[in-house]
Amino acid sequence: MKTIQLRPGKERSLLRRHPWGFEGSIAKGKADFGETVRVVGSDGGFLCWAAYSPSSSIKVRAWSFDEAERIDAEFFERRILAALAVRERLGIESNGVRLIHGEADGLPGLIVDRYADTLVAQFLAAGTEQWKGVIADALLAATGLAKLYERSDSGVRQLEGLPPVPGWLRGEGPTTVELLESSWRLTLDVAEGHKTGYYLDQRDNRRDFAVWVRRLKAQRVLNCYSYTGGFSVAALAGGATEVTSVDSSAPALARATAHVVLNGFDPAHHTALDADVNATLRQFLKEGRQFDAIVLDPPKFAPSAAHAERASRAYKDINRLGLKLLAPGGLLATYSCSGGVGPELFHKIVASAGTDSGVDGAIVARVGAAPDHPQTLCFPEGEYLKGLLVLKR
Ligand code: SAH
Repeated sequence: MKTIQLRPGKERSLLRRHPWGFEGSIAKGKADFGETVRVVGSDGGFLCWAAYSPSSSIKVRAWSFDEAERIDAEFFERRILAALAVRERLGIESNGVRLIHGEADGLPGLIVDRYADTLVAQFLAAGTEQWKGVIADALLAATGLAKLYERSDSGVRQLEGLPPVPGWLRGEGPTTVELLESSWRLTLDVAEGHKTGYYLDQRDNRRDFAVWVRRLKAQRVLNCYSYTGGFSVAALAGGATEVTSVDSSAPALARATAHVVLNGFDPAHHTALDADVNATLRQFLKEGRQFDAIVLDPPKFAPSAAHAERASRAYKDINRLGLKLLAPGGLLATYSCSGGVGPELFHKIVASAGTDSGVDGAIVARVGAAPDHPQTLCFPEGEYLKGLLVLKR
C-alpha cells in the first residue's frame, strides 16, 4: 500500500471529512491510476483511504475515513446498499431515481440513475473506473436488476485522462425506457439522452409547478429550455391550455410533443419551438405576447466559479426578459444548475433582472434538487441546482 503525505496545514479539509485532496496539498507520494492509497498528515497520522488520480488536479478522493475499513468488493457493496436504503426512505413518486450521487453517497466519481428496470452509470474518476466491474456487479446484486448501461461520456473524464465510454456494461436490450413520474408517463433514451437520459433532479420542481399552475389558474405557459417537456406536461396536468416548449434540440422536442399525447392531453394545447431561447424571448416581447407562467431552466452557464461573471450576465438577461413577458400576477419559475453560481448570487441576479425590467415580485419559494441528489454537510460543492418561484406584482 502506497502512502501519500500532505504538507503541514493541508490536512484540515480531509480532517473535516471533505473528500478531496488537491495536487498542491501533497508533500510526497505517488501511485498508479485508481490505486488505493493511505493518505496521512504531515505528522504521519492516518487521514483516509483514497483513490489516486495521476492526471487530475484532485489527486486523491477519499473512500473511507475509518482506518479499520478495507477497500474491497464488500466495501462497495456496503456503500451501495447504504445509498439504496436512503432512497427507500424518501418516498420518491417515480421509478426514475438517482441511486448514487457521487461524493454525497461516499462514492466519489460515481453517478447511478435507475430508470424503471434499467440502470445507467457514469464512472467519472480513476477510482471508480478501476473498480468498475466490482461496482457493476454490486449494483445488479443490490437492485436485483440485470441491465446496466454505461454513460461515461461526460467531459470531466478528460481531466482523468479517460476516453468516453458509452454502451451496455451488463445485460442488453432497448435503450428506450418509459418512466412514471408523479402520474406522468415520460420516455427517454439512455443512449441518446442528455446526461444519463433525463433530468431527475428537477422531479419535485416539475410536480410543484403543476400545483402552482392549477393554483394560479395559469393558461398560457412558456417552458424555456424544455428538453423533453417535463415542465410542459406538468403545466398541462395543472390545467394550462396554451403551453409552448422552447429548446434547441430537435430530438428532445420530438419527445416533448410525443409526451403530450402519451399523457392524454390535447395536442392543440401544446406548441414545440425549435429555437434559441434568448432570441425567442426577444421576439415574443416584440410581438407583445404575455404568459401566465414561465419556466427558465437553462443548461449550466457557469461550470465553475471562474465563469460566474459571464454566466451572471446570461442569467440576468433571460430573467429580465422572462419577467417582462409575464402578465401581472404571473409566475416565474427560474433555475440555475451552475455550481459556480451559489444561491445568494442567483438571488441577486434575479433581483437585478427585476430592477432592470422595472418589475417587482414576491418570492414564493426557494428550491433545490430533489432529495435523491443530496448535498452533504461535508461537501458544499455538491450544491448546484437552485431555483426561485417569483410572483410578478
Ligand atoms: N427543464 C428540463 C431540463 C432542461 S436542460 C427538464 O425538466 O427535463 C437544458 C436544455 O436547454 C437542454 O434540453 C438543451 O437542449 C437546451 N438548450 C441549451 N441551450 C439552448 C438555447 N440557447 N436555446 C434553447 N435551448 C437550449
